[in-house]
Amino acid sequence: DYVDLKRIINHILDRLVFTLESDSNAGNYHFVREFTTRDIYVDIDQDRMTQVIDNILNNAVKYSPDGGTITVKIEDNHRSVIVRITDEGLGISKQDAEKLFDRFYRVDKARSREQGGSGLGLAISKEVIELHGGSIWVDSVEGEGSTFNFELPYTEFTELDGEWG
Ligand code: ATP
Ligand code: MG
Repeated sequence: DYVDLKRIINHILDRLVFTLESDSNAGNYHFVREFTTRDIYVDIDQDRMTQVIDNILNNAVKYSPDGGTITVKIEDNHRSVIVRITDEGLGISKQDAEKLFDRFYRVDKARSREQGGSGLGLAISKEVIELHGGSIWVDSVEGEGSTFNFELPYTEFTELDGEWG
């Protein structure tokens, strides 16, 4: 179904902020939203896509220090939309970056075990994004932070209007 991507991401972020604020043990994170001013309607499975964005955001929180800023960008490329989620966390080495989307792969097993989780989040995310005809990748500088990016095809609504009109 066609859904408003900015609305969905705003909703996910609002809920995450609320959850973190309600948890006295959670760190204090700053969320910055840099969204294109255009409306982005994408033909997606909303529940599955929510799972993807939730996992990337939860990772950003889990693997970055208290007080960190997490920036969510939505870029309009006319034929595709790119979502970029940037944290100020541990970062990921080139070597690990290649395996990160494999099932059960976790960097530094001991450290990751403390954080909880199964190492399936990104493997599932990759499956879901590819099922939607998109791609997902990570850019990172070790010790500085990571950006998880995914790109989805979309059709500008004006074109759809034309088709339907
Ligand atoms: P699950 O998502 O199943 O609860 P998980 O978070 O460990 O467990 P993934 O989401 O697949 O699994 O992530 C795989 C591994 O990639 C993580 O264990 C962590 O080592 C690394 N990782 C993921 N996101 C980040 C990030 N933002 N910064 C640094 N490392 C990350
Ligand atoms: Mg995860």
